[in-house]
Order: sequence, then structure tokens, then C-alpha cells
Amino acid sequence: MKRIYVDLDDVISRTTDTYSAVIEQEFGRQVRFEDLTSFDLKVSFQLTDREYRHFFDRIHQPDMLMGFDPVPGAGKMLARWIDAGHRVDIVTGRPPSTLEVSLAWLDRQNIAYTEFIMVDKYNRTGDDHPGMISRKQLMACQYDLAVEDSLDTALFLAEQMDVPVLLYDRPWNVRPVDHPGIIRVVSWKEMAELPCCP
Ligand SMILES: [Mg+2]
Repeated sequence: MKRIYVDLDDVISRTTDTYSAVIEQEFGRQVRFEDLTSFDLKVSFQLTDREYRHFFDRIHQPDMLMGFDPVPGAGKMLARWIDAGHRVDIVTGRPPSTLEVSLAWLDRQNIAYTEFIMVDKYNRTGDDHPGMISRKQLMACQYDLAVEDSLDTALFLAEQMDVPVLLYDRPWNVRPVDHPGIIRVVSWKEMAELPCCP
């Protein structure tokens, strides 16, 4: 039995895909997905502080979160892992206010998992994180494999937790990664064919 960590946004749910349309609708600017080269959305979309606050609130509203499409192949692979007796934790950096809608979305999309864990991945809240565990607390979990699109989090998992990471190729993580524990993948289909994939 393996314990597998799977990120939610841009790994299971097509989150950032949807943001370009939001930017156009809210601010009248066009940004292509390929141009989103920073994990920091404020930087990628060139938003002022005020615009970013508006955008952040908008993208965390329930109708937005419920409207995301799933990443092709994700649901199938998670179901395969669960059926094989593995433990699959969906580990997200979304704020705790999105808990209910995130669970409702997973249910609607028929995504199988063992546990849903909210982690303060990006240290947004300092030491105060009700409803979320800290990075330090996450370190107590022993994972056999992780799937992430955040380069920073992938490095944390590989370096601090010694977890092999499948880095889901996205425009914001394209810079070369020099760590033997991190393997870049372009799709769930490709992942399924890797020897490290249970
Ligand atoms: Mg993500």
C-alpha cells in the first residue's frame, strides 16, 4: 500500500485554465495560458494590489470553484490507485473557506480519494492557520509519491520530505529542475506509463 499525495489545482482541476477568461471579463485584458510563467498570479496577470484582491475574491467564490473542468485522466488514475488499495490524499493550498465547495466539486466530478487535506503551502497565514495544517505538520506524513504543479512545493516535498515528485508540466514551472527526485510529466496518461507509478 502506497500513500500518494495529489495536489488539486491544475493537477486534478483545470483551475488556471479558467483564470484567463476571468481576467478578460473583470479587467478587459487578454492573457494567454502560455504566458502565465509565474506561479504568482499577481505577477503573471500583471495585477495591481487592488485588482489582485478583487481577482482573489472572485476566483474563490463557489460558482467559480464549481465550474472548473477536471484535468483529463486524473479521475481515472485516482480511481485506479484507490481500487488497488493505495491511499490517496488530495493536498491543497486553497483557503479553508473553500472546503465545502471543493468537496462538492470532487463529489460532482466523481473523483475518488482517501483524505482531503488543506495545507498552508505558501505560508499565507503565518503561524495562524485554522482549518489548515502547516508545512511542518505536513512533514509528519510519509508519502511514497506526490503529484504537484508548484515548483516550490515540489522542491519542498523532494528536499525536505524525501518524496519522489511528478511535476505536472505547466507554463509557471518550466524552469529546469535539478533534483533527481523530481520528474516532469505532461499528462496523467504519461504518468500512468512511468515505472514509479503504482
Ligand atoms: Mg496546483
